[in-house]
Amino acid sequence: MMTQGLQTVSYIAASILFILSLGGLSNQESAKRGNLYGIIGMILAILATALGETTQGHGILIAVMLVASGIGIVVAQKVEMTSMPQLVAILHSFVGLAAVLVGYGSYLDEATQSMTGAAHSIHLVEVYLGIFIGALTFTGSVIAWGKLQGTIKSSPLQYPGRHFINIAFVVISGFVLIKFLGADDTSKGVTYLLVMTGISSILGVLLVMAIGGADMPVVVSMLNSYSGWAAAAAGFMLSNDLLIVTGALVGSSGAILSYIMCKAMNRSFFSVIFGGIGQTSSSTPAAAITGEVKPITSEETCDLLKEARKIVIVPGYGMATAKAQYSINEMVNKLTAQGKEVTFAIHPVAGRLPGHMNVLLAEANISYDIVHEMDEVNPELPETDVVMVIGANDIVNPSAMEDAGSPIYGMPVIEVWKAKHVIVSKRSMAAGYAGVENPLFYKDNTRMLYGDAKKSVDALISSL
Ligand code: NDP
Repeated sequence: MMTQGLQTVSYIAASILFILSLGGLSNQESAKRGNLYGIIGMILAILATALGETTQGHGILIAVMLVASGIGIVVAQKVEMTSMPQLVAILHSFVGLAAVLVGYGSYLDEATQSMTGAAHSIHLVEVYLGIFIGALTFTGSVIAWGKLQGTIKSSPLQYPGRHFINIAFVVISGFVLIKFLGADDTSKGVTYLLVMTGISSILGVLLVMAIGGADMPVVVSMLNSYSGWAAAAAGFMLSNDLLIVTGALVGSSGAILSYIMCKAMNRSFFSVIFGGIGQTSSSTPAAAITGEVKPITSEETCDLLKEARKIVIVPGYGMATAKAQYSINEMVNKLTAQGKEVTFAIHPVAGRLPGHMNVLLAEANISYDIVHEMDEVNPELPETDVVMVIGANDIVNPSAMEDAGSPIYGMPVIEVWKAKHVIVSKRSMAAGYAGVENPLFYKDNTRMLYGDAKKSVDALISSL
């Protein structure tokens, strides 16, 4: 058993480790160390909580932890990089559900029923808010999971009076809170809690259903933020300082990430929080695409690459599905051995989750030094001989800059069409995640290299 003092010290140490972990994750070189700090901090946190003086029922606790850890290990080992966002979304839903259960448990706990005065009112508000945010996070994350998995259509659900209905739900919840605070017995209190749980569950569904495909990355990180606040609320209910600190760290870092991503996609933070983005409000119709699609063979591509001096590779979601990163690494090694300057251009929302491409390229041992951000690469594109777009689509769509009627108008993109030659490796003319046509494929300097990205790159390697 751990004394209260030792537990507090362990909690402080774990909090510091979590902060160091977040700091480490801000940079690719220190990310491994950051992860390690996080793991040690979490082990310390679990041990200090499980061995604490007030903790009882160790038999059940150990059994549950073994089962849960087993499931966690299997899931983490089995998950494909392409399904990572869905996994993250469903894990957020667990945090939300946990906050709901802690809320009910804490309300019904006899120890809290004997509270009086201001302490009691504060506790009730904590319970109410914790359950409200938790239920919203739970259902919102389940919907986000469905949209990312493809079981729910990714297009935004739009209906008249949407914002009014959402606001009305929040106002009704405020009204129910007042009734809840005045409830004179537990069964009435539970009834009010159930009503609010229903409302906030529906609100979670509506908020995320209203968001379209192209804005899903922001939603995932918003739900990450919500799950943090739900955990912090649970921390207040349980009077657990570590849970409050951890929840606040997750909540605020998720909010900051959402803000950065909103900027990357040119969306306003406010409109994301209230949902309903992902569709253009502009009444200008999308411009008709002119030009002709010109396929290219692997031999012709090889000739272009051999003549090129400066080559930029733009990876996207298709690279992840094709698992082409290893072949791409081999191709890059061949090209650099032939004296060519090869770099990667990463769009902030390429793939299906933040940092998706960076992780895949690092996995294939591609050096960080040649992996550049969109803003660094864009000014260099006019001097680039060949851009190879590998399984990317929305992030290289010129409509985002040129067509005010396009749903992705205003989103910053990698301006690949400014290079001398553009080769697009994808399987067909199909649209990307945002479901919009891409005029890049019709430009004079663009050629389409059809086929699975890995197979196409493998073919190039043998010709090179
Ligand atoms: P896109 O979804 O726009 O395009 C990917 C392209 O890859 C498709 O057009 C597809 O075309 C092609 N493709 C699929 N499989 C293969 C394969 N095996 N070989 C070759 N090509 C393949 O991806 P981007 O990365 O360009 O853009 C990301 C999009 O996802 C953005 O709209 C972004 O907003 C959204 N998003 C981003 C998230 C994030 O956090 N980064 C999270 C959720 C969504 P074809 O079928 O013809 O092969």
